[in-house]
Amino acid sequence: MLIRNATLPDGRTGIDVLVERGCFAAIGHNLLAAESTPLIDAQGQLLSPPFVDAHFHLDATLSYGLPRVNRSGTLLEGIALWSELKAVLTQEALVERALQYCDWAVAKGLLSIRSHVDVCDDRLLAVQALLHVKQRVKPYLDLQLVAFPQDGLLRSPTALANLKRALDLGVEVVGGIPHFERTMADGAESVRILCELAAERGLMVDMHCDESDDPLSRHIESLAFQAQRLGLHGRVTGSHLTSMHSMENYYVSKLIPLMCEARVNAVANPLINITLQGRHDNYPKRRGMTRVPELMAAGINVGFGHDCVMDPWYALGCGDMLEVAHMGLHVAQMTSQEQMRACFDAVTSNNARILGLKGYGIEVGHPADCVLLQASDAIEAIRLRAPRLLVMRRGEIIARTPAATATLALPDRPSSVDWTFKR
Ligand SMILES: [Zn+2]
Repeated sequence: MLIRNATLPDGRTGIDVLVERGCFAAIGHNLLAAESTPLIDAQGQLLSPPFVDAHFHLDATLSYGLPRVNRSGTLLEGIALWSELKAVLTQEALVERALQYCDWAVAKGLLSIRSHVDVCDDRLLAVQALLHVKQRVKPYLDLQLVAFPQDGLLRSPTALANLKRALDLGVEVVGGIPHFERTMADGAESVRILCELAAERGLMVDMHCDESDDPLSRHIESLAFQAQRLGLHGRVTGSHLTSMHSMENYYVSKLIPLMCEARVNAVANPLINITLQGRHDNYPKRRGMTRVPELMAAGINVGFGHDCVMDPWYALGCGDMLEVAHMGLHVAQMTSQEQMRACFDAVTSNNARILGLKGYGIEVGHPADCVLLQASDAIEAIRLRAPRLLVMRRGEIIARTPAATATLALPDRPSSVDWTFKR
């Protein structure tokens, strides 16, 4: 297959991409191909590597309203609601909802997801369900699972044993939630135990960390310290980190260099934290997203996650990582050209680094995984939450969406509308 005349996210235009045996075989201008080679005319539109979600909860997704909705809109009511739901979950329902979400993801060009899976259930029902889903979707979607002690590693009596059992079963990343432990000291202790466990087993770490408006929630400091002490450089991720929004600037000026030294990745979840945080504030209300531009400027790898779609914490969403980038851009006020492009990277290449994906990106020799968007560049893709004209996995087209157009019937100039803008 030959894709003609594509624009790549780095700004190269008029690029042809040859796909052979499921891989990118050649990339350049005016490529030659045998007459029998099927052609796709990209018409100058953006050909991107697939979207990657670095933070999701596939065990809770599409459960909105079960058994009731979150009235206060807070993280804590969401956790309580999830506990009510957990008691009545069945494996069949979990699998069905997760598979449905994976279909939505594929249609939106989202082909790799890191999902946390709650291990605070002695039956490990969700773990078994998502390990099954992981195998089922493997031909078209990479699912990476994080053993997540939702009720607190030390707070929940069987959490540590369950978490180890989940890792034994094949869950591949160590999770945590230090700000939900009963004391700051317990939070720090949970970080130590979990990082040591990851170091022993050679695994990555991704913790829900400081998802709070409390400026004194400083578990990211412990996480970065342990990452450095144990030599886990580049393998540790702090998710949410919303308390950084409320911290003193002086303290942050000391914290960010420690995160840099430990090469800790950061994940912001803009759709979720703009709605969950600041709920105890009067006016002015804090935004409650972590300091994305400052972390990026310091050289820290920052990704954006979707976190939730129609679950106890969030009523909306559809697996569209461009919607995530769009919200992240607004909340962080990342409006320069360079910053808007950085928001696109935050839902593609930055997340691929966080997951440790091999062979990611449109390069010769890599698996032919890509998305053709109805947009002329990355910024326009965010502006339009552009349709995914086609989604390719290992050289096969696995989803198509028709281009968004409208036909106008104006008295003086009947015409059709195309929302892309050719300069
Ligand atoms: Zn989460």
